[in-house]
Amino acid sequence: MQFGLDFSHERDLEIEELARRVLAYYPNADMAMLRKAYFFAQKCHIGQKRSSGEDYFIHPVNVAAALVKLNMDMDSVISGLLHDVVEDCDIHPDLIEKEFSKNIANIVIGLTKISKIKFRNKEESQAENFRKMIVAMAKDLRVIIVKLADRMHNMRTLQYISDEKQKKIAQETLDIYVPLASRLGINSVKAELEDLCLRFLKPEVYYKLAEKVAMKKEDREKYIRDTVAVIKDNLISYSMDAEVTGRSKHFYSIYKKMISRGVDFEQIQDVLAFRIQVNNITECYKGLGIIHSSFTPIPGRFKDYIAIPKLNGYQSLHTTVIGPAAERIEIQIRTHEMEEVAETGVAAHWKYKEGVSGKNVTKLAWVQELLEFNKNVDSNSEFMNVVKNDLDMGGIYVFTPKGEVLELRHSATPLDFAYAVHSEVGNHCVGAKVNGKIVPLRYKLKSGDSVEVLTSKTQTPSKDWLNIVKTSKAKTKIKQWLQKVEREHSRDVGEDLLEKTLRLFSTSVKTLKKSEAWNDILKGCNLQSDEELFIGVGAGKITTQHILSFAPTLQKKGTEEGPEIIEQKIDEISTYSQKLTDAVKKKAHRDNAVIVDGMDDLVVRIAKCCSPIPGDPIVGHITRGRGITVHTVSCDRVEMHDAERTINVTWNEEFKFKHPVNIRVITHDRPGMLSQISNAINKLNINIRTAIAKSLPDRKGSFLFEVEVKDFSELLRITSALESLEEVISVSRI
Ligand code: MN
Repeated sequence: MQFGLDFSHERDLEIEELARRVLAYYPNADMAMLRKAYFFAQKCHIGQKRSSGEDYFIHPVNVAAALVKLNMDMDSVISGLLHDVVEDCDIHPDLIEKEFSKNIANIVIGLTKISKIKFRNKEESQAENFRKMIVAMAKDLRVIIVKLADRMHNMRTLQYISDEKQKKIAQETLDIYVPLASRLGINSVKAELEDLCLRFLKPEVYYKLAEKVAMKKEDREKYIRDTVAVIKDNLISYSMDAEVTGRSKHFYSIYKKMISRGVDFEQIQDVLAFRIQVNNITECYKGLGIIHSSFTPIPGRFKDYIAIPKLNGYQSLHTTVIGPAAERIEIQIRTHEMEEVAETGVAAHWKYKEGVSGKNVTKLAWVQELLEFNKNVDSNSEFMNVVKNDLDMGGIYVFTPKGEVLELRHSATPLDFAYAVHSEVGNHCVGAKVNGKIVPLRYKLKSGDSVEVLTSKTQTPSKDWLNIVKTSKAKTKIKQWLQKVEREHSRDVGEDLLEKTLRLFSTSVKTLKKSEAWNDILKGCNLQSDEELFIGVGAGKITTQHILSFAPTLQKKGTEEGPEIIEQKIDEISTYSQKLTDAVKKKAHRDNAVIVDGMDDLVVRIAKCCSPIPGDPIVGHITRGRGITVHTVSCDRVEMHDAERTINVTWNEEFKFKHPVNIRVITHDRPGMLSQISNAINKLNINIRTAIAKSLPDRKGSFLFEVEVKDFSELLRITSALESLEEVISVSRI
């Protein structure tokens, strides 16, 4: 690269336009730096072309312009201009740091790293990519905002590349960048990306929609104008001055509605959305009151995201009403500030504000949580699932006993709730009351549920819990606990094994620790601490023979047993840890439905009083002469047991047999009910052991079934299948 770095004499229409727009929101911006970046990038990309045949430089300029539109700070806009120079022009990041700043260099480095990620269809590698993106984001969230601007311009110019590449890039955008934009609350970018994805992934759908929307365009625009006027009149009659706008929803959201409701475009009623912008929160609610008294609201469609903002910071009131032309319309009411957050999301944090530096929010809590989780997983696809779930916007809002609101992801369980409250609450959670009723840990929480966690000092996390929880926070905490327990167990076993071995040499761990030989052993095994050594032995990774080889001065104990026998004993001890590990594995394969902590060959019986099935939290009770009885944690009998005779048990995942469970179905008394219910159960491939039918007073029927299920989720399938039958009043497990 041969050119000077003094561009102060250069002028160009494009940069003047960009500068003008920056000055509009950031009057004190460093224009010299912006110009320098502009001409620097222009020189770097000279001679390079886009697939469209245009000069490559139009791309970074458009990326910078998109960032200006989001009112981003100068570091981001300049990074937008420079984002491809390291990758495409072999500019060293050090030069960027020297000529611009460390922050800008870091953002460009982050972008270069992301651009090298090769996205493939295989989920494994996609997970790895996602992980890298999260890591890049955590350093400086602006990396991802610049990346989104970059992707947006590439999507806007996608028509110039081959069909095959179009599809690939559009799919990747829909899978990765759209959820990110959504999670960061940058709705303007999200909506545009979604429409572009639809255009390239499903052109037939996109163009048909575009045609239909265009066909009625004049009618629609008139309707929007009229409705805006009516809404305004209503507000003014209550002397409220507000900005009212209306628009068609974007194509992708119409398309999603058509798919989810299984209807045609013509049948979608609420294609239009109106927005009322006011000055403060009081006016929002006042405006809502006026709207609801002027138009008929549709029940169940009102959402208050002001009182309970979405995770990405979005706030607004939403309601759907019957509009002036008897058509459903959606109305959003928010302050001007909320509007800004809604359009630009997290980007609003970097918006220049007088006297406020934009650096205070560079990291978000959920990014931190993901990173934390990232440290604790080895399987990529698992990470991918969690990331996908955490990016999923379908959050629910539940109440703590104190009436505080917690947002959790969709299908979160009471256990997720417990961990969201505190990891100690999670670790000791035995069950939960939802709206006053005891529910299983697998229960799917719904918005509005009041959740009270039940804890017990003796309760500790089990491996099963990993299959129950849905949030990364809960998964991370459970794994940390399990790892800690495993390490402690290994340490104790290891110390014990080493002690036994050393006795054959007339010494002990305590004595040896004080000698020189101990340091030789640690050094020889390449370990830092005693603890690591014990854990290594306990986990079967280091044999005692290996340890002894670093302590050649140890003398075998007296000769009365003979050296061969001593040798044989060392051998035995050394392979003992291996046997231990094998035994644990074997135990899991055995035919017991339940694994009992630290005990082998016990008779395990499933309690008849509560008939727990896999998925239920369980506890073991040691009975006199009859082994162990397994109850659900919430079983009434458990409370009568003494704590000393209670033992930790977990479901054996290897167990293949089915479990009996009783369900009671109450129905309206109609002929043929029994066969109707039996058919519904049989359809699910569930075996019915017994069935008892009974007539109840007031023309109701009661059916008692004993069925065999694999686990709790299979039971849920049965209950929901039965609940969907018209004559069924209630289904309960007894
Ligand atoms: Mn680019």
